[in-house]
Amino acid sequence: RKEEEEGFAVDTDYAEEEERKKAQAAIQGVRQQFGKTYLPLVNGVYVETQEVVDSVNPSNFREIVGKVGLLSVEQAEEAMKAAKSAFPGWRKTPVKERAEILRKAGDLMEQRRAEFSAWIVLEVGKPLREADGEVSEAIDFCRYYASEMERLDKGVNYDVVGENNRYIYQPRGIAVVISPWNFPLAIACGMTVAALVAGNCTLLKPAETSSVITAKFTEVLIEAGIPKGVFQYVPGRGSQVGAYLVNHVDTHVIAFTGSQEVGCRIYAEAAIVKPGQKHMKRVIAEMGGKNAIIVDESADLDAAVVGVVQSAFGYSGQKCSACSRVIVVEPIYNTFVERFVEATKSLNIGEAELPSTQVGPVIDAAARDRIQKYIEIGRQSAKAALEMPAPDNGYFIGPVIFSEVSPDSTIAQQEIFGPVVAVIRVKDFQEALQVANGTNYALTGGLYSRTPSHIEQAQSEFEVGNLYVNRNITGAIVARQPFGGFKLSGVGSKAGGPDYLLQFLEPRTITENI
Ligand code: GLU
Repeated sequence: RKEEEEGFAVDTDYAEEEERKKAQAAIQGVRQQFGKTYLPLVNGVYVETQEVVDSVNPSNFREIVGKVGLLSVEQAEEAMKAAKSAFPGWRKTPVKERAEILRKAGDLMEQRRAEFSAWIVLEVGKPLREADGEVSEAIDFCRYYASEMERLDKGVNYDVVGENNRYIYQPRGIAVVISPWNFPLAIACGMTVAALVAGNCTLLKPAETSSVITAKFTEVLIEAGIPKGVFQYVPGRGSQVGAYLVNHVDTHVIAFTGSQEVGCRIYAEAAIVKPGQKHMKRVIAEMGGKNAIIVDESADLDAAVVGVVQSAFGYSGQKCSACSRVIVVEPIYNTFVERFVEATKSLNIGEAELPSTQVGPVIDAAARDRIQKYIEIGRQSAKAALEMPAPDNGYFIGPVIFSEVSPDSTIAQQEIFGPVVAVIRVKDFQEALQVANGTNYALTGGLYSRTPSHIEQAQSEFEVGNLYVNRNITGAIVARQPFGGFKLSGVGSKAGGPDYLLQFLEPRTITENI
């Protein structure tokens, strides 16, 4: 396979019966471990905590996947101290050695692929195929950032006669990674290994609803040989431990993926130089989207319908790349809506672990309630073209399609992060572009069209970080579709791309007169 040759991880082929059996066995194996306790890792030791919370299976919230020890602020301070004392050793560790730890971590996740997929399926309710794709992404991040750091480590030589000029990179110091639950392995791993391979001591604070998977990732890093204090797993309350670490004088870099509200707060807090602080903090914040797919009159409607369904309802719309607006030109609007509704009706909704499931649950009760409120708002301001029923033993919400949505209405402007799509009618492609750009976000966007001038215009005028033409708009692959947005979708350069590691590094110029 091409992927293998290029060093990319290859997704599991579930058409093979053996693979399906292996997946089911892994689900059973993980279920046997349900209810265990996972503790924070501070300075190489798992520490007891006062507070322990349950992480439940969103497909069946009576099942406790694991219990997670939450760090106190005092314990977070211990972790910070440990990171500081580990830094001098880690920054001197040759890049080759750091990179080898990442490669080993990638190989270990490859070996434990079925098990990791099972944890993702059961802790965050992601259907199996997508969970497996996420494991591939995590492995790819390890391998890609390892080789990227080796490339950067060579530096640049600007020697002239009589003068040597070297351009080199050094680590920044201590990185705090705050990871989301929607890609509990891939994004947590990507941000963490980038910080580590660049030579920074790193504290990883996962989202509370995905802390067990992060504990499993911690096992991998330990087995791969990460020294104590260099990497620490610090689950805790975002409002306490997260805020404490963001505001800490010794934090140099904050890598965050999550909501716009939290991202903007981190950005603001990190900008304040605290007493005793001797540097400016660097913030990388990957936030939300209100992503649109434009369908024009020349589009292949079969392809457009499939692409929109995948982009909108994959992982129940809980990807920041997900499609939540479809902008369709007048001549084909009615046909599109009809076909989109029909295609969506055929989706199987159910527990994430069932092989037939295409749409699983949403993450928790708060998410379910928030999404339901938006559905209520949608009912009042637009036409409900489809509301699918869903089981009630987990946090399920059936796909919802609203048509005749006004571009400025709440459901067309705010990120819902659930299986709810607004279909907007426009007179032509020019208006479609204008509507597409009419939000605060600029993350992903799509265009289904066979009109070269439209494709060209979208390339220059569609304000998105990742534009997809005639395909679905989710599932960016490391080193192939570097991922990230601008406007209020985020700050920082793209994950899985050639500029990403630079954010964790401080460039220096050394000039020697000879
Ligand atoms: N990189 C993911 C994708 O392309 C989305 C990441 C996210 O939701 O934060 O689908």
